[in-house]
Amino acid sequence: MAEATPDQLKIDVAAIVDELADTIDVELEFPLAPITLGTEEFVPVAPARVDVTLTYAGTGIVASGTVAADLAATCSRCLQEFVMTATGDVEGFYVRPGTEAEIPEEQEAELIVGRDIDLLPALRAALALALPFAPVHDEECKGICGTCGADLSAGPCDCTPDLSLSPFAVLKDIITDSGDDA
Ligand SMILES: [Zn+2]
Ligand SMILES: [Zn+2]
Repeated sequence: MAEATPDQLKIDVAAIVDELADTIDVELEFPLAPITLGTEEFVPVAPARVDVTLTYAGTGIVASGTVAADLAATCSRCLQEFVMTATGDVEGFYVRPGTEAEIPEEQEAELIVGRDIDLLPALRAALALALPFAPVHDEECKGICGTCGADLSAGPCDCTPDLSLSPFAVLKDIITDSGDDA
C-alpha cells in the first residue's frame, strides 16, 4: 500500500504580494505520487525535495528553482527495477483572480487562491520533463537474451546462435546457386 499523497502543495504567499521583488524561499520535502509517462511508471522511494524561490513581480508571483526526487523505475532493456534521481527546473507564474487580463496572453498562469498558491502542478511538470521515455538502469545495459531470458549484462548466455536463421546463411545459398549456374 502506497501512503496517501496530497494532491496540492499550498504555499501561503500573502507576505510578499504587497512589496515588489519580495521573496519567499521554499525549501521542503513532500510525499510525491507516482508519475506515469506513456507506459513507464516512476514510483518515488523517498519524499521529493523542493528548493524554489517565489518572487513578487508586480503582475504576479514567479516561482523558480528545482525539485528532485528518487524514483523506482523499470529498465527498458533488462526489465530490472532500479532507483534513479530526477532533478527538474521549476517554472511557475501565479496571479490574483481578476488580474489575468493584465498579463500577456501567451503567458501561462495559475491562480492565487486566497492567500495560497498550489506549487504541486509546477513540481510534477518539472519532474516529468526531467524523466526519460526509455529508462535504462545503466547506459551499458545489454538487456536480456530473447531466447533464454538471461541477463546479458552479467555475461553471454549459453544459447547457440541458430545459424540457419542468419541472413548470411541465405546469402551463402544464393552465392552457391549462382556458382552452379555459371
Ligand atoms: Zn538494464
Ligand atoms: Zn540466451
